[in-house]
Amino acid sequence: MSDQKTTTGPDDGNAAAKTPAKKEPEEKYAFFEVVQGYLNHAAELVGLPEDVQSILAQPKQEIIVHFPVRLDDGKIHLFKGYRIQHNNILGPYKGGLRYHHSVSLDDLKALASMMTWKCALMGLPLGGAKGGIKFDPRQHSRNELEKITRRFVHALGSNIGPGYDIPAPDMGTNERTMAWAMDTYMNTVGYLSHSSVKGVVTGKPIASGGTKGRRKATAQGVVHCIERWADDNNFDLEGSTNIIQGFGNVGSFTANLLSKLGASTIAVGDHTGYRYNPEGFNSHKLCDYVRANGSIEGYPAGKTITREEFFAIEADIFIPAALENQVGPEEAKALKVKLIAEGANGPCNPAGEKILMDRNIEILPDVLANSGGVTVSYYEWVQNKRCETWSLEEVDERLRNKMYDAYRSVSEMARQKKCSLRIASYAVALERLVAVYSERHIWP
Ligand code: NAD
Repeated sequence: MSDQKTTTGPDDGNAAAKTPAKKEPEEKYAFFEVVQGYLNHAAELVGLPEDVQSILAQPKQEIIVHFPVRLDDGKIHLFKGYRIQHNNILGPYKGGLRYHHSVSLDDLKALASMMTWKCALMGLPLGGAKGGIKFDPRQHSRNELEKITRRFVHALGSNIGPGYDIPAPDMGTNERTMAWAMDTYMNTVGYLSHSSVKGVVTGKPIASGGTKGRRKATAQGVVHCIERWADDNNFDLEGSTNIIQGFGNVGSFTANLLSKLGASTIAVGDHTGYRYNPEGFNSHKLCDYVRANGSIEGYPAGKTITREEFFAIEADIFIPAALENQVGPEEAKALKVKLIAEGANGPCNPAGEKILMDRNIEILPDVLANSGGVTVSYYEWVQNKRCETWSLEEVDERLRNKMYDAYRSVSEMARQKKCSLRIASYAVALERLVAVYSERHIWP
């Protein structure tokens, strides 16, 4: 069977492998529309020229591939993979690969455009992209995951590359996925011996060309933003409490890093349910448990609570680190926190956000708060290009400075324009993008 590839096509979602772990809600959340609403708001604030706005409103390319994989039972299953390349005026497309049963063209368009804003906001010479496969990786063996990844990367072919489009981990993917992706690219499109070809993906294991500090980078960025917010608001993180939804890469490292600052995680949740421990969880032990068991389910400390109870727990900070559209009006009314630091992309929907703002609950928005991941991915890419290895101290210091600078620019913009930190993040990014468009103009 040969791979079929189209540059765009109907999002019929026909390739969900096996039974999804959870049923999708009846009505699909219009994530891309929501992100476009933020873009329109910020564009108005900074007086973005209409032509630039219309370019930024749509991705440059939407790639959809269908590829067959022989599963462990010998049967062949056809998978559907996407790569959305939103914008590359600042540099090569950059963004994660998501493996999740809810992956859709619309969501990836939203996530790809957010990568453009993140890279512009952080001052990185990179553009925005996102990709993924619509399936539940938890339903597949390691052997199947390797084959699915390799066939996907093969199907994408030269649509990715170290100077063109550089994937990274996102939900459902990790360092191991990136090692398979790099190896497949090297053996098919790239040259096996070129060290710089390692830069075709970031978030790799260190032995395969990854960087120190990447694993915790997104969480570290979230925590740097929380620290800045605490300074600005005379809030003592020592002795504070937090609740975290999602205990994968972003959620678990955020819990660990906050615990180092004396903040305790009193409730956690993941795809299997929620747990509460008023004494505070030992985040390292919980991480070890999740690594061994795949979820928080059955963790001995604390007690099981419902999702509704989770959102009603009194704490200082809430860190959403799972999916988009998790905080709507009901959750926004229930939350009893001072701050929401968005580790996940798009966790608060606009109706929820309005209620949070009316209740003076501050939001450190995704485009700012979780951009530590792409920033350290950029450091990995630079090290691959230069055949260098940076120390953890060097990576950490560079990231801290970048996050502090971005936080400052966004706070300043929010103060000047009297807008939310979310709209201010978009506004700072748009000002940087429009400067390039006005210098380069449109070809020809
Ligand atoms: P991950 O796959 O490592 O972890 C995801 C976590 O979310 C898991 O604990 C999973 O059980 C939980 N989850 C899934 N569905 C859920 C549901 N319905 N309810 C509650 N919990 C649920 O993913 P990750 O890399 O930590 O990414 C999490 C979020 O952070 C995503 O929105 C991603 O786009 C964003 N993000 C990740 C990075 C990165 O570097 N990994 C960078 C920027 C943003």
